[in-house]
Amino acid sequence: MKYINEINRRKTFAIISHPDAGKTTLTEKFLLFGGAIQVAGAVKSNKIKKGATSDFMEIERQRGISVATSVMTFEYKDTLINLLDTPGHKDFAEDTYRTLTAVDSVILVIDSVNGVEEQTKRLMEVCRMRDTPVIVFINKMDRDGKFPFDLLDEIEKELNISLHPLTWPINSGKEFKGVYNLYDKSLNLFTAGQKSTEENSVPIHDLAESLLDKTVGERNANQLREDVELIEGVYGELDPEDYLQGIVAPVFFGSAVNNFGVKEMLDTFIRIAPTPEPRHTSIETDIKPTDDKFSGFIFKIHANLDPRHRDRIAFLRVCSGKFERNKSYHHVRLDKDVRFNAPYSFMARQKEVIDDAFPGDVVGLFDTGNFKIGDTLTEGENFFFTGMPSFSPEIFKEVVNKDPMKTKQLEKGLRQLTDEGVAQLFTQHGGNRKIIGCVGDLQFEVIQYRLLQEYGASVNFVPLAFYKACWITGDKKKVEDFVRFKQANVMEDKDGNLVYLAQSEWFLNTERQNNPDIQFHFTSEF
Ligand code: GDP
Repeated sequence: MKYINEINRRKTFAIISHPDAGKTTLTEKFLLFGGAIQVAGAVKSNKIKKGATSDFMEIERQRGISVATSVMTFEYKDTLINLLDTPGHKDFAEDTYRTLTAVDSVILVIDSVNGVEEQTKRLMEVCRMRDTPVIVFINKMDRDGKFPFDLLDEIEKELNISLHPLTWPINSGKEFKGVYNLYDKSLNLFTAGQKSTEENSVPIHDLAESLLDKTVGERNANQLREDVELIEGVYGELDPEDYLQGIVAPVFFGSAVNNFGVKEMLDTFIRIAPTPEPRHTSIETDIKPTDDKFSGFIFKIHANLDPRHRDRIAFLRVCSGKFERNKSYHHVRLDKDVRFNAPYSFMARQKEVIDDAFPGDVVGLFDTGNFKIGDTLTEGENFFFTGMPSFSPEIFKEVVNKDPMKTKQLEKGLRQLTDEGVAQLFTQHGGNRKIIGCVGDLQFEVIQYRLLQEYGASVNFVPLAFYKACWITGDKKKVEDFVRFKQANVMEDKDGNLVYLAQSEWFLNTERQNNPDIQFHFTSEF
């Protein structure tokens, strides 16, 4: 328990949303509150913009930004907050899923006009897998959005989570008057285009007060009284334990661009959000942040933008103990000792070399090719962290080498790019066919471009009509038989696990029926 004070003042989280819901805007407001930036507009969007430049130039631009915004560390009211950035574009969703393994909670932004969108659902599925605590921010209340009760209904149904409003809006769009804070019973009045300050906050301890009618008008006041009565009847008091277990999500309404409703949420966040949490491992016991010995895992690898330098940055989440500069640590997969003389942190959005880091922190490590996503570092112990699964890709293409003289470079490039997590590589079981699996087409462009730029290897991709990749397990003999019969469809992932590529849902169901002793999994960890 040596570092208990350091651990208890840390919160590590991510903001997630469907593109355009307001993630970048909200991030910026948080950084302003934390004093990490001085002016609005300082945070660049990590979105892939369609238009003027070619797609891969745009991707490179985005890669530059995403190094700078990978982790944003700032302090707010004595809490040290590590905000981990996630790519906005759906084609890079896997990157987001992996980042979610390194946080202890998330804030989910929902656009009040659009409600639950496609990416919202997928991101929440990943949060549900790990029971990550979620706070919901319903954004853009200054626009004519859906009715708040309808929104809550929609979110609860579509995302399969119980909600608990902590603020409640008075109207929306042009008629938006502000939000009532159900927790500390005050009214926060909205003025478009103005930065929200303490002055617009009116304490209303009893909703029956005539002050309420004076401030927002009689009709609005009565509506609010009715709404609040209903909400308090339905929801009662929030039990923070339900939130911490990922069962109930507190909800805030606001407008990020107007910096409205953001402070209430941030104040609640530092009050209730979890401090660094224990992590599951390959051994029976979880690793607790308070364990004295250092441990951590790599959840993201970022290649250097300059192709002449092959070095990369590996992002380490510290899980227990204290990480120290120049100290030898055990790289469990490679069974060797590694040392870092210039680890850095991201305080105030400046890279700076650090001497130590504590659980919840993210450290950037220079890497010359030692790390793969999911690698564990310890102080000599032999376990690894679990919970970093690969998910079945959606698009499959076979790699065609256009330049046989560059076969070695191609193999190396494919290996390194897939270690980085750019895409998944499947190699034919007992053969040499190579298939790349991705979530979106942009990923193929990135691979093709980077193989050529960084490794001098030129490739084409031939689309394959596969539906899903399934990791297969089960009775050894039955699996062997299956592999023999289905040779053309059985591949190995980068760790040598067997994967069956199904042509369609129908094929998969048929195989499931014909092979009751074999399990087909859509993720690499079960
Ligand atoms: P992201 O893709 O989730 O990062 O979304 P952005 O933060 O880039 O926001 C997308 C667009 O919505 C931008 O044009 C923002 O200015 C706008 N926006 C963000 N918050 C609000 C809001 O509260 N009200 C309105 N009307 N627009 C907003």
